Amino acid sequence: MITPEHHVQTLAIHAGRLNNEKLGDIVQPIHVTTTFERNPDGSLKDYGYTRSANPNRQTVENKIAAIEGAATAVAFSSGMAAIAAIFEIVLEPDCHVIIPDDCYHGTRTLLENFLKRWKVSYDQVDMAVVATVEKSIKPSTRLIWMETPSNPQLKIADIQAITQLGKKNNIYTACDNTFATPLLQKPLDLGADFSMHSSTKFFSGHSDILGGIVCVNRADVATQLRGYQGAAGAVPAPFDCWLLNRSLATFPLRFVRQCNNAMVIATYLSTHDKIEKVFYPGLTTHSNHAIAKKQMPNGFGSILSVLIKGGREEAFAFAAKLTIFKHATSLGGVESLVEHRRSAEGNYPISPDNLVRIAVGIEYVDDLIQDLAQALD
Ligand code: PLP
Repeated sequence: MITPEHHVQTLAIHAGRLNNEKLGDIVQPIHVTTTFERNPDGSLKDYGYTRSANPNRQTVENKIAAIEGAATAVAFSSGMAAIAAIFEIVLEPDCHVIIPDDCYHGTRTLLENFLKRWKVSYDQVDMAVVATVEKSIKPSTRLIWMETPSNPQLKIADIQAITQLGKKNNIYTACDNTFATPLLQKPLDLGADFSMHSSTKFFSGHSDILGGIVCVNRADVATQLRGYQGAAGAVPAPFDCWLLNRSLATFPLRFVRQCNNAMVIATYLSTHDKIEKVFYPGLTTHSNHAIAKKQMPNGFGSILSVLIKGGREEAFAFAAKLTIFKHATSLGGVESLVEHRRSAEGNYPISPDNLVRIAVGIEYVDDLIQDLAQALD
């Protein structure tokens, strides 16, 4: 029997298996049905309607809850749908939210373009400094949203210190854990109410499905999230859940290789004369390296950003000369990508014009280094 005490490599393959698979399939079938026949008395067998629950979704949710060490994981059709669900159940009119100054632009867009209508205000603060977060708390603050490491400047927030602030002031705390994944960091264990993932990224790992996950321990919050998932209906399709379940089996192997590759690349680029700065929490020169080491004891992730000496033109020229790395948005897949972030950040750009984000894949690291070297030359 699989128990929470098993190693993550074992959980990633075996956890979540449902005991209603009567034929003993080793690979779960895809339950593409939207509806399920009822018992003669009208009661449900195991499932009723796929928006409310589906075996493939249930498997994937149970597996991710096991990997994260959470009581409950709730799956959505994208990372943004997962973020919107947390906002929906936590926020109320006239409340205030604190978000990182350097967070995924979609999170900011949701607050700026859609939640202002409900008189939800927000402040963007430098969460690398806990005192700055404390100073921005207002009586109406309802949620502190962390993203650590942040996208794209890899800023590190001290999750434990910030969740303590939340508890002291009766404020919900959530962490976008997409970059770290539960292999490196478990925000719920550090006191957060929500740990959220874009499963489009490392969990999927193959750049072929969108998805979002919210992990929680509190039963009251789990009930609200589950209710919202079924009511709003931004749920992943059974086939996407099947693909995600399959991808999760190799997630620990893939991610360890990605992190190791990223460390080698960050170290290489940090001494390159065409590079002005490397943002990577694994480097001792990172301003919050000590906190990163404390809360991410198993590694520092596979995303780094660099400032190319020069400006926008030099950044684009570098991206264009790469042959293995492709210039495309997103991250977490087996293939290495780069992106000029400022041009991807829509109406609220925050990144310097010479910043290129590097999402490291699982290719042979010497080939990646050679590609970077020829592009910088
Ligand atoms: N959070 C982070 C840190 C991201 O990088 C992204 C997407 O890039 C998202 C959330 C949104 O996820 P999705 O694209 O799956 O909606």
